[in-house]
Amino acid sequence: MRPDLSRADLWREDCYIAGVWRSGDERIAVDNPANGETIGSVPFMGTAETEEAVTAADAALPEWQRLTGKERGAILRRWAALMLEHCEDLARITTAEQGKPLAEARGEVVYAAAFLEWFGEEARRVRGEVLTPHASDRRLVVSRRPIGVVGAITPWNFPLAMITRKAGPALAVGCTFVIKPSEFTPFSAMALALLGEEAGIPPGVFNVVTGDAPAIGEVLTEDVRVGKFTFTGSTAVGKMLAARCAGTVKRVSLELGGNAPFIVFEDADIDAAVEGAITSKFRNTGQTCVCANRFIVHDDVYERFAEKLAARVGQMIVGAGLEGPSDQGPLIDERALAKVEDHVADALARGGRLLAGGKRHAAGANFYTPTVIVNVAPDARLCHEETFGPVAGLIRFRTEDEAIRLANDTRAGLAAYAYTRDASRHWRLSEQLKYGMVGLNTGLVSTEVAPFGGVKESGIGREGSHLGIDDYLETRLACIAV
Ligand code: ADP
Repeated sequence: MRPDLSRADLWREDCYIAGVWRSGDERIAVDNPANGETIGSVPFMGTAETEEAVTAADAALPEWQRLTGKERGAILRRWAALMLEHCEDLARITTAEQGKPLAEARGEVVYAAAFLEWFGEEARRVRGEVLTPHASDRRLVVSRRPIGVVGAITPWNFPLAMITRKAGPALAVGCTFVIKPSEFTPFSAMALALLGEEAGIPPGVFNVVTGDAPAIGEVLTEDVRVGKFTFTGSTAVGKMLAARCAGTVKRVSLELGGNAPFIVFEDADIDAAVEGAITSKFRNTGQTCVCANRFIVHDDVYERFAEKLAARVGQMIVGAGLEGPSDQGPLIDERALAKVEDHVADALARGGRLLAGGKRHAAGANFYTPTVIVNVAPDARLCHEETFGPVAGLIRFRTEDEAIRLANDTRAGLAAYAYTRDASRHWRLSEQLKYGMVGLNTGLVSTEVAPFGGVKESGIGREGSHLGIDDYLETRLACIAV
């Protein structure tokens, strides 16, 4: 069943290409992960339609770039305002297709709109430089120009925010945009496109294509008219798509998987650490790339932290997001649930002990009980692979060096967290943890005003903050003989 909406037309089952809502006979069904019911379908488009979208985006560039930054910014800010005006409907659409509790979905709408507002403001602040020349009869002018058409592929865990983080800066500087949302969560993207149209985005500037992921991906990574490709999703798919961009030397931004350590030192405020762990680990049913994946806990506070965490986890309400209060919704699908079960079985087989959960939840087929496992072996799968589910596995350490070594023992480098009251240790950790983002005494680091992104195999580029706009600009030099 579709969710009830106060504006029923926000539910669109068509793609949006060149400012036209486009249907198709071949379709993909979309299910509600909370109950398995089909809630709608979207067109199964492929190479031809994606090429049309790129053609439209390419054709829209000159007019869009003729606007001033202030004018483009005003459209983006109007788009953000419309998102907030229709927050409840957008949240219901997101929850229906993604599963997160309604309160989290509302939070995502606000977070997603903030990127449009922020980059709408930043649109006016793109600047170049005039350099001191190397010769008295030369002048050197460095300008920053929009790259052109941007191809984007986004995941299902934040169906709105993962789009606005990319579309905001792209549109702000004068790029145009072709997006393939996840096939699990296309309706949030369609609602966003409709509100963008109402905000005044001209035809061709923002296009949404759904369907055959490899075929759409091939156009977005190989078409010469696409100047930049930006991807958020799994490391394996991101690497493969980035390699394809090499053929036309596209600019590439990647936001890939993490394997976040969450370190609790002996001097930590344990209650605060438990709350931070809940936020970091169990938000979105553990399905965020910045989710704590490994808890590295000092021997002296290990038992206390584990018991408090297990007690707190035991209080969480598990249930469908659209039906009454819920702290944790379903996993996205059966495959995701099977991976969680595998990680738990593996940790237990290697000597781990359950303090909470460890089993499916009666709320429905894709639900898993929030889980805490102690005595996890450092070689357990959940220490090396992203679980992407509601499982906290705890390992022990004795010295700061050991904690840092364990934390850095991964090819991922997105987010890391640590709880400690020692201020000089804050500096050491922020310098020595090889992560794009380090949360100290907090389980949440994401905001539109700060740069989000990873090091090592977690990605290339930054989203959000004044730096987020750089990924959509290219540097051009004019060397002028005078
Ligand atoms: P997740 O684990 O988040 O589902 P994926 O990397 O599989 O990670 O999915 C992220 C996005 O990448 C989705 O929009 C998905 O459709 C897309 N995707 C997956 N495989 C391919 C592919 N071969 N070509 C293009 N896009 C793909």
